[in-house]
Amino acid sequence: MKCSFCGKDQSEVERIISGPGGVNICNECIQVCNYILEEDRQKKDSNPLVLKDIPIPEEIKKYLDQYVIGQEKAKKILSVAVYNHYQRIKNNIIGRQDSKDNKKSSNFVELEKSNILILGPSGCGKTLLARTLAKKLKVPFAIADATTLTEAGYVGDDVENVLLKLYHAADEDLQKAQIGIIYIDEIDKIARKSENPSITRDVSGEGVQQALLKIVEGTVASMPSQGGRKHPQQKNIEIDTTQILFICGGSFEGLENIIKSRLQTHSIGFNADIYGERNQTEKRDSVLKNVLPEDLVKFGIIPELVGRLTIISTIEELERKDLMDILTKPRNAITLQYQQIFRNQGVDLKFTKPALEAVVEKALTRKTGARGLRSVIEEAMLDIMYHMPSNKNIKEFTVTKKMIESNEIPIFLEKNNDQIEKESA
Ligand code: ADP
Repeated sequence: MKCSFCGKDQSEVERIISGPGGVNICNECIQVCNYILEEDRQKKDSNPLVLKDIPIPEEIKKYLDQYVIGQEKAKKILSVAVYNHYQRIKNNIIGRQDSKDNKKSSNFVELEKSNILILGPSGCGKTLLARTLAKKLKVPFAIADATTLTEAGYVGDDVENVLLKLYHAADEDLQKAQIGIIYIDEIDKIARKSENPSITRDVSGEGVQQALLKIVEGTVASMPSQGGRKHPQQKNIEIDTTQILFICGGSFEGLENIIKSRLQTHSIGFNADIYGERNQTEKRDSVLKNVLPEDLVKFGIIPELVGRLTIISTIEELERKDLMDILTKPRNAITLQYQQIFRNQGVDLKFTKPALEAVVEKALTRKTGARGLRSVIEEAMLDIMYHMPSNKNIKEFTVTKKMIESNEIPIFLEKNNDQIEKESA
């Protein structure tokens, strides 16, 4: 008697079970079948997980508050946008199912998605917002840098590779990937150079925008399963981007001038005080808040793409106080992370207030938003991280202002204590 599936005979396996019509199956093949069924079951379960229990906007915003300092308006806009996005997917899945079953088919309306554009200075939380949203919704998340993308067939990454990243982030579960979030950074850097469509090919600007437009508006794209270039011998995976939420971000340097000139031409002769201050030195933030789709087209984003980024949110430059908060308040704040690392080595790490203020001052001069904070602390901590493991008797260490300013670390605790006393006085 042989297994009809693998061909092994009685002596090679533990057990063979016979069915009607002379069909047999061995215990090993039964196990394989079980694996296959279990995988199917898991896939079915995992897909609408987020859709079963979509968090409400207030809950999403509260979650964002734990990780992102300031940016109140942006957090609110994004919480509502993401909530609506997943409600929409749910509506479409249920509606389609009902129409299939001929239930309530007459009044089902398929909802179109709204993608998001976040604009504002770099290092102030655009990527962090997108990443934190995905974490809250428990959906896969991928980041792509628009400047590395090119139109298919040119040197650089094909736009489809962005989808492949999402697919990998979803542990190669296509269903999950198809409701994920993709963040495209530096979208402003692929603006076309003039407002008129170019006659010559513009492979890194307009060409990429066109390619992006396709996946952003929703299409069935085929991704090369191994990444890299599409290749005739390579298996391609089809992915439907209709329900993927695209969040694009960029600093849009110079956009404020476009907005200002629009506001001014519209207000000549009237009250020109639309954005609060009369002079030309208004803060960039308050000008950016007035952005309209037409300004983005002037900036060089193709109108079709602007039309697909229906929700526009601006983020603000971080001030001294925000930076101070970022150092200690988010749930995964950088100082808390260092404290955890030291706690794991049995050391109680502290920072004096002047030390934190010095970190902020140094970061401000770098003009890279909150990104500067991490690099300043990392530079200062290098020596401590280097020497600490060889000084097993140290149980407590306090980082002082002097260490931050000079990057000089007193390895002997007596010296350190002098500084701490002076700073906490
Ligand atoms: P960008 O606006 O350029 O996308 P990011 O979101 O990547 O900036 O910010 C870089 C890093 O700075 C983040 O990983 C985070 O640690 C920190 N950061 C930036 N903005 C904030 C913020 N508003 N609240 C907390 N941390 C922030």
